[in-house]
Amino acid sequence: MRYVVSGAAGFIGSHLCDRLIAEGHSVLALDNCITGSMRNVCHLEGHPRFEFRECDVTKPFETDGAVDAVWHLASLASPKDYLAHPIETLESGAQGTQLMLDLARRHEAPFLLASTSECYGDPAVHPQVETYWGNVNPVGPRSCYDESKRYAEAVTMAFHRVYGVNTHIARIFNTYGPRMQLHDGRVVPAFLDQALRGEPITVFGSGAQTRSFCYVSDLVEGLSRLFHSTEHYPVNLGNPREMTILEFAEHIRVLTGSNAPLEFLPLPEDDPRQRQPDITKARRLLNWEPRVTLEEGLRHTVEYFRGRIEGGPSKPA
Ligand code: NAD
Ligand code: UDP
Repeated sequence: MRYVVSGAAGFIGSHLCDRLIAEGHSVLALDNCITGSMRNVCHLEGHPRFEFRECDVTKPFETDGAVDAVWHLASLASPKDYLAHPIETLESGAQGTQLMLDLARRHEAPFLLASTSECYGDPAVHPQVETYWGNVNPVGPRSCYDESKRYAEAVTMAFHRVYGVNTHIARIFNTYGPRMQLHDGRVVPAFLDQALRGEPITVFGSGAQTRSFCYVSDLVEGLSRLFHSTEHYPVNLGNPREMTILEFAEHIRVLTGSNAPLEFLPLPEDDPRQRQPDITKARRLLNWEPRVTLEEGLRHTVEYFRGRIEGGPSKPA
């Protein structure tokens, strides 16, 4: 099978490519590297079943040859990145999703959208279940991301209903692991970088807001199961183990053996106060649940970031 993966040089996309190649598929990897890095896929370069094409999926692009599935992961994904590139973020959710859906439609290929828990905004229902419609500020700073993904879900359902495309929607909750960008501002790389350097750990607000962290191999397993399922409505994929950001900072300090102090900074506007996936649907339909503990996942991630920090430049340009 020949699979098209957008966002392939990104964190999750590159792990997905590894899995598809290991399963014996061919992969046409698309990325414009706005936040991703060729470093994430350089180990696949030269592989006979791996082809990388630098391309912006919000502009019409050519694909020659067979297309047996389309995985659409291309998007700005960290708050720091999407706040810096709001238009590009909206375009990847809107034009990007539509062009990828069109590709799937032309080839009668199944399609999977990497959506997000941000569709729930600052949720009034806790934990978040797929039937909850969310609490999103449509004009706030995060709206470029939240609304782009909500639109992406809507256009995906429309292609399913109108053209019969075999679509799947994964609502991904905070996922972490090796190959996250060191300086994309997300809490996992930020805290690890700070702890490993012995610099202050920057907790936004009081740190009472909660998140639930899923290791990337669990997430990729969930994406694969969803892709092979018959479900067209959104399915939450994430780890239900919820903690405050303060508790998370403590985990990082213990795991890295760091004495780095905490530094409290203002809470960004519209930062969701709580987030925890209800994964009842994924358990029932996909027989899926996360297997990797936070301690184990963080150990792999710490190892990766240690290597990056020791081998890379001391600070971002
Ligand atoms: P990432 O930034 O590492 O990967 C996204 C990739 O998309 C990057 O390589 C980037 O260069 C590429 N990209 C962006 N716009 C593009 C465009 N117009 N054309 C081609 N490529 C483009 O982020 P990630 O964490 O791997 O996220 C992957 C997907 O999963 C995203 O759609 C994101 O919204 C979703 N998601 C991730 C998380 C998470 O916690 N990591 C949570 C929810 C949803
Ligand atoms: N956060 C923090 N310090 C940082 C980066 C993030 O306290 O240096 C907080 C952020 O305010 C949010 C949580 O950690 O409440 C998760 O942030 P992230 O950017 O990783 O993802 P989000 O879930 O907000 O999309």
